[in-house]
Amino acid sequence: MALTDKFGRLITDLRVSVTDRCNFRCVYCRSANPETHRPSSELLAWEEYERLVRVLVGMGIRKVRITGGEPLVRPGVEGFIARLKALGIHDLSMTTNGYLLAERSDALVAAGINRINISLDSLDRHKFERITRTKTFDQVLAGIDRAQASKLRPVKVNAVLVRGFNDDEVEAFAAFARDRDLIVRFIEFMPLDQDHTWRRDIVVTGREVLDRIRALWPVVPVANSPSETARKYRFADGRGEIGLISPVSEPFCGHCSRLRLTADGKLRTCLFSKEDHDLRSLLRSGASDDEISGEILSIVAEKEPGHRINEPDFQPPSRTMVFIGG
Ligand code: SAM
Repeated sequence: MALTDKFGRLITDLRVSVTDRCNFRCVYCRSANPETHRPSSELLAWEEYERLVRVLVGMGIRKVRITGGEPLVRPGVEGFIARLKALGIHDLSMTTNGYLLAERSDALVAAGINRINISLDSLDRHKFERITRTKTFDQVLAGIDRAQASKLRPVKVNAVLVRGFNDDEVEAFAAFARDRDLIVRFIEFMPLDQDHTWRRDIVVTGREVLDRIRALWPVVPVANSPSETARKYRFADGRGEIGLISPVSEPFCGHCSRLRLTADGKLRTCLFSKEDHDLRSLLRSGASDDEISGEILSIVAEKEPGHRINEPDFQPPSRTMVFIGG
């Protein structure tokens, strides 16, 4: 069975948010004020995730990324990864803030994770502390180093650039990629922050990042598949790679191959969907696998053509990144 939407896009990638909790409060994502988390009864149990993923794998999902919230704060995530591996998923990855990674990296590798993305938005300790509202800079760097010394090499480091906050660090991040022989991906700030501070003029475009890096080092494009979010470049004279993820200035929705499952069991067909689809109730009402896959087929058929960030009447979704799963 293939999962295809009405525009002919083939859906092969799933992002699974395993928690709505996070131990960071990044300014471009969450509010400084504590917000209430959903009670655990509202979150999917590991067996419920496993069943949904198994059904989705039967429908053509090939890549699964574990995210959150912060996925490493939910106990048992390594066991879940091992069970997904046993389903035959060959491309299993995780996005993490890296705080708990140094101590968990070996267990993640043993469980079967193939790749890891670590968020790091500043190489300056004080700025990092302002952005994340934590004092965890050393632990995150240790997490990156530990993962980079493992089978997860080359790790991807994700930096969201916000003008006036960290846009002065483009060149430093490129040098970081070269020094450590890893991949730094520059992500455009999207209107998904809880505080609604997003403005078009504080988005730092992928084009600007590429121009600034090219002014210092020659880079060579790296081939990618059309559904990949990043345009990739390696440094011509040596090690390291950069990726540009430009959903605002160069939307890639026409090739989107992704679905998202939230921690409370909602299926989302776009980060910016106006509605999500309640698979948790379906599961808990005793639906059969066939009923669940039938529902998923009809949800996917209606996947929206694009995110509409650049339309004059754009409204951000009511769920923000931490509740959707990035
Ligand atoms: N806690 C994990 C982490 O920090 O990577 C996973 C969840 S986090 C929501 C996933 C990704 O979303 C991170 O790379 C983060 O930087 C990104 N993100 C969050 N809010 C964003 C926004 N408004 N625009 C662009 N990216 C955002």
